Amino acid sequence: MELYTLIDFVALALAAIHFGVPLIYYSYLKRVALPRPWNVRADSSFLPKVSIIIPTYNEAQLITRKLDNIHRQNYPKDKVEIIIIDSASTDGTPDLVKKWGKEHPDTRFKLIVEPIRRGKGWALNEALKHVSIDSEIIIVTDVDSWWCDPDTLRKAASMFADPTIGAVSCIKIPEGARGIEASYRNYYNIVRIGESKLWSTPIFHGELAAFRKKLIEEIGGFPTDIGADDSHTATLIALKGYRSIIHDSITCIEAVPRKRYFQWRVRRAQHLIQHFTKTLQEIRKAPKEFRKILIAETFLHLLNPWILLTSTILFITSIVLTQSLTATALLTIGVALLTIKPYRTWIAQQIHLIVASIRNLWTKEIAWSKQTK
Ligand code: GDP
Ligand code: MN
Repeated sequence: MELYTLIDFVALALAAIHFGVPLIYYSYLKRVALPRPWNVRADSSFLPKVSIIIPTYNEAQLITRKLDNIHRQNYPKDKVEIIIIDSASTDGTPDLVKKWGKEHPDTRFKLIVEPIRRGKGWALNEALKHVSIDSEIIIVTDVDSWWCDPDTLRKAASMFADPTIGAVSCIKIPEGARGIEASYRNYYNIVRIGESKLWSTPIFHGELAAFRKKLIEEIGGFPTDIGADDSHTATLIALKGYRSIIHDSITCIEAVPRKRYFQWRVRRAQHLIQHFTKTLQEIRKAPKEFRKILIAETFLHLLNPWILLTSTILFITSIVLTQSLTATALLTIGVALLTIKPYRTWIAQQIHLIVASIRNLWTKEIAWSKQTK
C-alpha cells in the first residue's frame, strides 16, 4: 500500500470508530434498554424525611423564584427541611433568603453562610453537617432550575422505598428549549434513561440529585477536588452496588446562559472529564452491568474526541501532501454535514471536550465565575 492510501485508510478507520461507537451504543440503548421495564419497586406511600440542600453563590436574581418553586411541592411540610448554603455571595442573596424564610413560617429552613468561597462541593459538605439526624434522603438542587410538577419530590422519594436504589436524578429540559442545547438534550436524555434502565447512569443532573444519606456518609461526602459533584457521587454509589438512576417521570427545567454559552459548555465538559478520569481506576471493581456503561462513557468523554481530531488531521495531511481525492471528498462530506443539526451538535460537543481537557491542565474550575441566565 502506498503511503497516501495508508494515511487515508487510517483516517477513515478512525472516523468510523469515532462515529460508529456512539451510534452503536445509542441504538443499543434505544432498542434494547429503553423498552425494558424500570424494575424499581417505588411506593407512593413512602414519605421519608428529606433535606433539600440549595447551594448559592450570587443568586439574588433567581433565589426567590427557586424557593417558591420548592414551596409548591406537595409533600408533608414537617418531613422536609431546606438548607441553603451560601458561599460569600456579594449580591445580597442571604438577605433575600432570610426575607423569604420570614414570609414562609410553615417551612423548616436553615441558612448557612460561609465566609469564603471554596466551591460547590465544599459548600455541600458544610451543609451536610447541618442535616437533621433523622433525615433519610439528601437532595441537592441548583438555584437556576425548577421542578416541573408539584409531585416531583414525592416521585423521587417514592423510589427510595426500593432498597437497591441509592440515588435518583431528573431528565432536564433547557428553559425555552432551542438550538444546540435542545437537540443535545434529546439525544442525551435517551442515553441517560437507557443506562438507568440497564442499571445506573454515571452522569447526574444538579437540577435534582437525590441520594440516600447513609450512602453519602459511607463514601465520605461530596468530592471537593473535582467539579462534577453530582455525577461523581452518583457513580461512587453505583460502584458500591446500588442503582443511581435518572428516571423519566422526574423532569426539571434548567436555565441556559444567554451569554458565553461556549465557555459554559466547556466548563461543564471539564468537570465531566475530571469525573471520568477520577473513576478510571474503579472501572475494574464496578458491578458487571455498570462496568460496561462506565467503559462506554469513559471512552466517549476521554478518548473519542481525540480520535476525531486525529482523523481530521490525517485527512488534511493527506490532502496537503498527496492531494488525495478520497481525503478531499471525505473531508468535504464531513464539513457539508454540518448543515444537519444533530451532527453539528455532536461536533460541537467534541470541540467542547477537547478544549476542556486542555483547559483542565491549568484550571479545574472548582469555583467558577457566575453566568447570567
Ligand atoms: P452550572 O449549572 O454548571 O452553570 O453551575 P451554576 O453556576 O448554576 O452553579 C450550580 C449551583 O451551585 C448554583 O445554585 C450556584 O449558585 C451554586 N454554586 C456555585 N458555586 C458555588 C460555591 O462556591 N458555593 C456555593 N455555596 N454554591 C455555589
Ligand atoms: Mn446551573
